[in-house]
Amino acid sequence: MRARLFHADGVIPGDGVPFLDGAVVVSQTGAIVEVGKATDVLPRHAELNVERIRGVVFPGLINAHTHVELSAMRGKVPGGAGFVPWVERLVTTRPELDESEVDEAVERSARDLARYGTAAVGEVTNALSAVGALARNGIGGWIFHEVFGVDRAQVMKRIEGARSERAERFASWPTTDLAYAPAPHTLYTTHPDAVRELLANARNEGLVTSLHLAEHPAERSALESGEGPLMGWYQQRLGLDPAKLTWPHLSPVAFAEQLGALDPRVLLVHLADARPEELDRVAEKGSPVVLCPRSNLYIESRLPPLLAMIERGIEPALGTDSLASNASLDVLAEARALADRFPGVPAADLVTMATWNGAQALSRPDLGRFAPGTQPGVLAVEGKLAAGQGPAHFLLANVSKDRRWLVRRAKIETPTLPSFS
Ligand SMILES: [Zn+2]
Repeated sequence: MRARLFHADGVIPGDGVPFLDGAVVVSQTGAIVEVGKATDVLPRHAELNVERIRGVVFPGLINAHTHVELSAMRGKVPGGAGFVPWVERLVTTRPELDESEVDEAVERSARDLARYGTAAVGEVTNALSAVGALARNGIGGWIFHEVFGVDRAQVMKRIEGARSERAERFASWPTTDLAYAPAPHTLYTTHPDAVRELLANARNEGLVTSLHLAEHPAERSALESGEGPLMGWYQQRLGLDPAKLTWPHLSPVAFAEQLGALDPRVLLVHLADARPEELDRVAEKGSPVVLCPRSNLYIESRLPPLLAMIERGIEPALGTDSLASNASLDVLAEARALADRFPGVPAADLVTMATWNGAQALSRPDLGRFAPGTQPGVLAVEGKLAAGQGPAHFLLANVSKDRRWLVRRAKIETPTLPSFS
């Protein structure tokens, strides 16, 4: 492969303002060499063949929160009744799936992610089932190995177990492009001491980790007062007497802060139920925020407080959550869902959420933007921009159109991998 020069009607750089009539030069190794107005860039690279793109070019997308592992649950978990009925159905249906069904669905999703133009994910997993499929499809990012359990002794053992499980199953981890970190599930399903331990370990090892936080009102009423719909669920599902559980009597974000979870390397996922004073703390601490609007709409018929976040300078990333609560794993469809419901937010900002904000949340400055030296992958959506239409607006108006990889990120061949079911 030699260096390539793309001259496009519109360029979306990911970390800057999109512009018309732009050019991107990519080295033979897939690194961005230069990006700018075509009139500036083209004369400097007269030796290269110009590939003319009628449409827009943009960097590989970042799906900062997903559970590819749950792909076989597609269409099996009805939404709209709130989190507790949803999760109850999820945990009762999941064991009924057979292994081949799970594997096939995971493979299909990993291929779909690549087809949507995904460069990296934040994959939250219990069984590490999607690691091989993601690697084979050239998708990088983080594998967040979820730990939960409200029984202190049991969950502390599980933290140890997660370590050895990883070592055992991945004598050779498939790719350096996918990093691994244990992660607490939520503050109401993971014992506080375990949350503290997981966060401390992540900090000491320089890892990014992830936490579902302030997703729904049931979480708040449990943490703030030990009441609400989760109490019955603890009793029925886990056989626990809610009266014997101890609750912090703090808001989700205040409790997260007390446990050390407000940290630039801990992804706060959802915040759909976060209150203004909680968003103030998140903004002050510089926590990366990941929104999954289509999942929140599906489960709770609720949207994250995007405008209140933007007002406070929070720059959220986007994620799809799983196919148990979403129609697809296409992160650009999340940006489009927000565009439809928050028409005042510029399209360019929404595309940045699906690219550069995601890359920053995952601590991957090499992805999500066209900047010299980065290797984000280059995508195109072809078509004619309307008069006065910006490139990001065009992209969001055409989320259902095919996306073409002009430059793919390197696929990792994993011939020696065992099956990761
Ligand atoms: Zn999730």
